[in-house]
Amino acid sequence: MHAEVLVSLALRQVDKVFHYNVPPSLAGKVQVGSRVLVPFGRRKVEGYVVGFSPAPNPADLKDVAALLDEGPLFTPHQLALARWMAAYYLCPTVKALRAMFWPLLQVKGPKKVRGLWPAACCEVPDPRRAPKSAAVWQVIQARPGLSRKELAEAAGVSPRVVDAMVARGLLRSEERIESRDPCQDLPEKRIKPPVLHGEQIRAVSKIIEALDQKGGRQVFLLHGVTGSGKTEVYLHAISAALARGKQAMMLVPEIALTPQMIDIFRGRFGRQVAVLHSRLSDGERYDEYQRLRTGEAGVVLGARSAIFAPLEQPGLIILDEEHEPSYKQEESPRYHARTVALRLAGYAGAVVVLGSATPSMESYCQAVGGGAYHLLELTRRVGELPLPSVRLVDLRRELQEGNKGMFSRDLREAIARRLSRREQVILFLNRRGYSTLVVCRECGLVLKCPHCDISLTYHVSGRLRCHYCNYSVLAPSLCPGCGSRHVAYLGMGTQKVEQEIRRLFPTARVLRLDSDTVGRRGAHREIIDTFREGEADILIGTQMVAKGLDIPGVTLVGVINADISLYMPDFRASERTFQLLTQVAGRSGRGEQGGEVLIQTYSPDHYAVTCAQNHDYQGFYRREMALRRTLGYPPFTHLARLLVTGRVEKEVQEAADFLAQAVHAAGVPVELLGPAPAPLTRIKDRYRWHLVLKASVQSVLREAATAALDGFSGTGRYRRVQVSVDIAPQSMM
Ligand code: ADP
Ligand code: ZN
Ligand code: ZN
Repeated sequence: MHAEVLVSLALRQVDKVFHYNVPPSLAGKVQVGSRVLVPFGRRKVEGYVVGFSPAPNPADLKDVAALLDEGPLFTPHQLALARWMAAYYLCPTVKALRAMFWPLLQVKGPKKVRGLWPAACCEVPDPRRAPKSAAVWQVIQARPGLSRKELAEAAGVSPRVVDAMVARGLLRSEERIESRDPCQDLPEKRIKPPVLHGEQIRAVSKIIEALDQKGGRQVFLLHGVTGSGKTEVYLHAISAALARGKQAMMLVPEIALTPQMIDIFRGRFGRQVAVLHSRLSDGERYDEYQRLRTGEAGVVLGARSAIFAPLEQPGLIILDEEHEPSYKQEESPRYHARTVALRLAGYAGAVVVLGSATPSMESYCQAVGGGAYHLLELTRRVGELPLPSVRLVDLRRELQEGNKGMFSRDLREAIARRLSRREQVILFLNRRGYSTLVVCRECGLVLKCPHCDISLTYHVSGRLRCHYCNYSVLAPSLCPGCGSRHVAYLGMGTQKVEQEIRRLFPTARVLRLDSDTVGRRGAHREIIDTFREGEADILIGTQMVAKGLDIPGVTLVGVINADISLYMPDFRASERTFQLLTQVAGRSGRGEQGGEVLIQTYSPDHYAVTCAQNHDYQGFYRREMALRRTLGYPPFTHLARLLVTGRVEKEVQEAADFLAQAVHAAGVPVELLGPAPAPLTRIKDRYRWHLVLKASVQSVLREAATAALDGFSGTGRYRRVQVSVDIAPQSMM
């Protein structure tokens, strides 16, 4: 038998297994999942062992040169998943595999520290003759493993006393593994689960039934209005999975992975939960991976990439807010965590629960009318609380009546009323910064990023920033085009809202939550805790305030402008707007005082807005599906997008034309839209063109895209142009 190795070059051309001979020195040590060094061409490259089989040409095999780590880097499920991802998303297998095991390679290993232990048999120090040693002795009996410094400090003696005891053999020094626990400063208070209400019981028992069934994957769509207690359903389902010796995964969107959420899980499952998100240090992530690999932790709570966590036997996979666009990774491998979860569950025979108050069109249509998913519904809020009443404010009329400010009279009054009653307010605007458009009133020049075709946002720091590449520059006092002093700051962001609120309500205590205020570690938690504890009256923010927050004191949610997402050049613009409005509205009225929502909009008749107003998911679904059917968009068709980028626009355009011809030449039944410049025409100095392929069967898309890519790498003509394929794209920008 010879080792099948994938070499670690992320190129489509070498994405196949190569056979190597395992030399006697490594026999028995090289296994599936091993990272090895192998000769490849004239150099040595890293590779991963994915199997063993007899090579077709055993005579000219080369030897595996070295074994790079001890244990395997990936599980059999992960390997199967990576292979499927490579075929499905047209990416190199090693790229998909690396997305799974990279945390294991970021640090050398577990963190080891020196600790001290009491020696097994020795004379106990006498408290009268050696009071200091006796104090140390007492501490180390109670807390063995402390470091020299910790021990001296705890005993209130100089470290030299400790050193002397080590020298006399009273204490022995040993290395121990210290776990880098991302939650160690959180109190681990066990929380007793509440008694489930009727709809929750029905949902949980259906899921448990599925967990108890032998056989293939089962998928549930849990459609529950905001505040209906979906999280509690997940928690019970996870308990049930653990009780059956199965492991569970719980995925949430990165910004919904709040400290509150982590507290809830730790409170219920203690150290059985491993937490994975982008703010962990490499060491913390490594240790969480180890705890999962060894089985010490059986529950993963994490964002998108936690779907790749190394669970031996996942039995339950939950995606909360399954409709969230952030489940799609926007760089290679361009996977969607929901699609991957469904596939992984297929391999593992696991139960999948997709939850949302506003399910994606793709998922909901699978759960109704004979689709493959089971629909579970939570139609009411916990405790029979009503959904908040939603009022629309027509900004056109507001302007006609002479109000040019960012707040309508209604919204101002509503805020004032809450402040006088000591209730809390959330204000939502999905744009950060102060002013989103800086333009010269004399010559019309719009200040844009020199690297992107994007207007710069003014921040209160006095700088202009590009929100795509982070370029920043001091705001000029004169127009760089004509020297005029009349530079206008138009368009508003959360900073401007904050300033205006402070001007209108000078005594209100105001907090802002957006990616500019949560830079420091722990800042996110502080802001939310302060608000939850009632130490602030108004919370202003971007999407970060729209998701997950469960704060009973909030009786008013104000949407400053509902139209921002509505007119994006993207066929999902209405869906995104409906979802966002429903989510943010759902933050209001979670306490006994009830709640209200005010949505300011220039489009009060748009169905995305009116359906959100009426809490009418079904109505929205029907309207949106009818439109998608007419226009031939998903879920009625499948899409793929080829994005072409490069520094020279002419080359990009020519390459895009070439790809279009290659698609035509492939002779498969796809519809081709474009090539055309992408809505974001230039980012980070690269021009962007795209082609959108549409087909009724997804495999046809891959056929066409593969043909185009093969033709493209075959010509060798556009060496400075990059092409990326996006199967089932979530963003058309
Ligand atoms: P959703 O995720 O559906 O918006 P949550 O899971 O945030 O709703 O639940 C809303 C609130 O109701 C939370 O504070 C939760 O702790 C509480 N809750 C959930 N189920 C119950 C129950 N059966 N009894 C009492 N409180 C509950
Ligand atoms: Zn000017
Ligand atoms: Zn830029």
